[in-house]
Amino acid sequence: MERFDLYIDGAFHPGVARFDSRDPATGEVWAAIAEAREAEVDAVVAAAGRAFRQGAWPALTASARGKLLLKLADLIETAAPELARLETRDTGKIIRETSAQIAYVAEYYRYYAGLADKIEGAHLPIDKPDMEVWLRREPVGVVAAIVPWNSQLFLSAVKLGPALAAGCTVVLKASEDGPAPLLAFARLVHAAGFPPGVVNVITGFGPSCGAVLTAHPGVDHIAFTGGPDTARAVVRASAENLARTSLELGGKSPFIVFADADLESAVNAQIAGIFAATGQSCVAGSRLLVQNEIKDQMLATLTARAAKIVIGAPDDRATEMGPLCTPRQRDRLHAIVEASVAAGAVLICGGQLPEGPGTFYPPTILDCTNAPEAPCCREELFGPVLSVMGFADEAEALHLANDTEYGLASGVFTRDLTRAHRMIRGLRAGIVWVNTYRAVSPIAPFGGHGLSGHGREGGLAAALDYTTVKTVWLRISEEPIPDPFVMR
Ligand code: NAD
Repeated sequence: MERFDLYIDGAFHPGVARFDSRDPATGEVWAAIAEAREAEVDAVVAAAGRAFRQGAWPALTASARGKLLLKLADLIETAAPELARLETRDTGKIIRETSAQIAYVAEYYRYYAGLADKIEGAHLPIDKPDMEVWLRREPVGVVAAIVPWNSQLFLSAVKLGPALAAGCTVVLKASEDGPAPLLAFARLVHAAGFPPGVVNVITGFGPSCGAVLTAHPGVDHIAFTGGPDTARAVVRASAENLARTSLELGGKSPFIVFADADLESAVNAQIAGIFAATGQSCVAGSRLLVQNEIKDQMLATLTARAAKIVIGAPDDRATEMGPLCTPRQRDRLHAIVEASVAAGAVLICGGQLPEGPGTFYPPTILDCTNAPEAPCCREELFGPVLSVMGFADEAEALHLANDTEYGLASGVFTRDLTRAHRMIRGLRAGIVWVNTYRAVSPIAPFGGHGLSGHGREGGLAAALDYTTVKTVWLRISEEPIPDPFVMR
């Protein structure tokens, strides 16, 4: 049995109790996780507040902060195989994906390391001759970073990188599902030599840990990734401390294929877009909108490829799709698939609960052309389930694509450049991928509209989000300030 501790104020901490973590592929308990509740949350926010105001961190130059981030990036790169092993064991995400993703996570820290000393203020051409006025960009304060269980090293990097580059301190709360890799990541933070309290890593349950953290008076900014219902609770909690919020929520992203598209590329991108990470991806292309002329051909090719997906042990390099993270997740998913079939969606493949241990679910495709209101077309499933609809023309494609409360990602496959531009303009989504899907980079902003949240992660703007502007007025005249009550 492996053990994972909290990391508070530069020291490892056993927490108030321990809870079990299960291997999703076998259902076996494999790790004992330290749990944070109110007392630990109080202690960790106090530590982050102290580290923000006093000691070594505020005394560091921005370049020195950048060097610490670079060191962390190097440590992540070296530890990537072990972090990948832990994430695969704890969440069921396949080793091929965790290895590649964690190696790339180091690039996010490097990008923000480079940005640390480029977060500049400004000088204002003020309308008063005896004044100099300029703006200082200062760190906002203590950041509560809350992440779900999927891609958590990645999702925490897009918060920690910019927050630390800006000079904030961070309390990172890992999900209660699959928290081991983030608690192990804390060991790298420690080895990198960040001053105590600058980066803290805890885990615990929503009501007894997350809710306490988000309402805490010592928190200045909440960077949240998770589902919309939890986001609503987070925003309500922030009514207490009036902390700023940035919300990266889910999606019901359209994947649009026109008849002139390169079908092989579209099929491969769609397979990756919905079945990679077992569909547990916020940008999953979960609604395939395909032009009527090629719908049958595309469905047949997709179904044939889906049937060949190798499902198995997530730590086997040959595996292409692993289990879902939790039984809760699988039960919810299956209930929505059944409700969708009852609402008129036609099951093309999958949709059956497999026998045996582990939270596996087969690649599932539903034709919803005659059931556009089926729940699988409306709700984020966060699993390997694709809803398909045909469309006649561009106008119908755009209407169907935007007929969602979400607005995170979208994909368009066409060889017609002018049509691609019209679709780019018309799609209500934070990301449009044209003739590609699921590409990400530290340099490119990431985020959505509507139920997909607000705020952007990645890029320069994300670092500015963790700053506040201080306006400085300096009077340069040698003349004394006149007595305000003496008339001249
Ligand atoms: P979730 O919302 O249930 O949990 C996310 C985190 O919030 C966990 O750490 C949880 O402990 C915490 N939490 C729960 N209740 C809380 C409360 N009252 N106050 C504060 N924190 C609380 O999400 P999940 O089911 O673990 O993850 C899946 C969701 O995350 C999906 O909707 C998915 O789309 C979304 N997601 C979004 C992105 C993105 O970048 N847009 C990326 C990955 C996942």
